[in-house]
Amino acid sequence: MRNAFSFVLVFACAVPLLVSACGDRTPDNPIGPTPPGSGSGPQTVTVISGETQAPVANAAVRIGSQQGTTDSSGIVTFEDVAANAGVSIEATSFISPRQTRLNGSPLTLIPESLPFYELVYHSSDGIGLGYLKRWEGEPGREVPFYLPPDMQAPAVVRAHEEAFRTFNAAQNQIILRLTDQASAPCNAMFEPVATAVAHVHHDRTRGIYGCTIGYSEESATRVNRITHELGHVYGLLHGTIPGMMSITQNTGLDFSPPEKAVMRLMLTRHSGNMPPDADSTSSGTMSISGSRTFTIVD
Ligand SMILES: [Zn+2]
Repeated sequence: MRNAFSFVLVFACAVPLLVSACGDRTPDNPIGPTPPGSGSGPQTVTVISGETQAPVANAAVRIGSQQGTTDSSGIVTFEDVAANAGVSIEATSFISPRQTRLNGSPLTLIPESLPFYELVYHSSDGIGLGYLKRWEGEPGREVPFYLPPDMQAPAVVRAHEEAFRTFNAAQNQIILRLTDQASAPCNAMFEPVATAVAHVHHDRTRGIYGCTIGYSEESATRVNRITHELGHVYGLLHGTIPGMMSITQNTGLDFSPPEKAVMRLMLTRHSGNMPPDADSTSSGTMSISGSRTFTIVD
C-alpha cells in the first residue's frame, strides 16, 4: 500500500513582520494572545465528555500558572483569569492534554476508547494527515456530486445513491446528492488503480471543500467500496477496529457505532485541530495556510 501524500506548510512566526498576522485570534487559532479589554475575574470551568456529556472528575485544569482539579461535577473555579484565557486539561481515559480557550461553555474531552486518533490524525498503516480536516459550516450543507458521462451506467448511479444514503445518515454535516453539473465540488472518475483512491481538497481555514474519487472499473459499482471512500471524503483515515474504515475488517454496509461517534466528535473541533487535541499550538505561533489535496489509496 502506498502512503498518502500530505503536504503541509508550516512556519513559525519568529519574524516580527509576521507576528501580528499570526497573533490574530481566529476560529482556527483560538490560542492567540489574550485580546485587550477582556474581563478578568472568577471563572468556573466545566469539563465534560464530548461523547456522553457526562462530567469529567479529577481533570487537571491549568490556566497560565494556576492549576486546579475538577470535582465530581466536572467543575473547578479559578479566582482571577480572563474569560477567554488559554486552558490546558489533562484527564485519565481521555485524549489529552486538551488545549483550547475558555468561552463560557463546558469544555469537552474525547474518550481514548474511541478510535479518534487513528481515524483523524494518524492511522496505523502509516497514513498521517497531521491535523484534523473536516467540512466546516452549518450542519446539513448540501454537497453536489458529479458522475461524468462514462460513469452514468445505471449500476454505477444506483451504487452511489445507496452509498450516499448510508453516508448522509451516518452524519449530518454534509448531505451528498448527485448532480448533472460538471462544476460540482465533488466528482468521480475511472482511474487505473487496484480498487479506489480518494483525492480530498482542503484548506486550513475553509476545511475540506471538494473531492474526486477514482475507481477501478469494478469498484465503481460496489456500495461498500464507495461508502468507504466517502469516509475519506469526510476526513477519516483507516481504522484498525472492524468497521467501514478498516481495510482488513470491513464487513458491513454501514459505519460502525465508534466510527459514527468519531464523525460526530470531529464536529466539536475545527479544521486544523492538532494532535493530541489542541486548537492550535500551545504557544499560538503556528499557522498553516493554502489549498492542499490529500490522497488516500484504497
Ligand atoms: Zn481507504
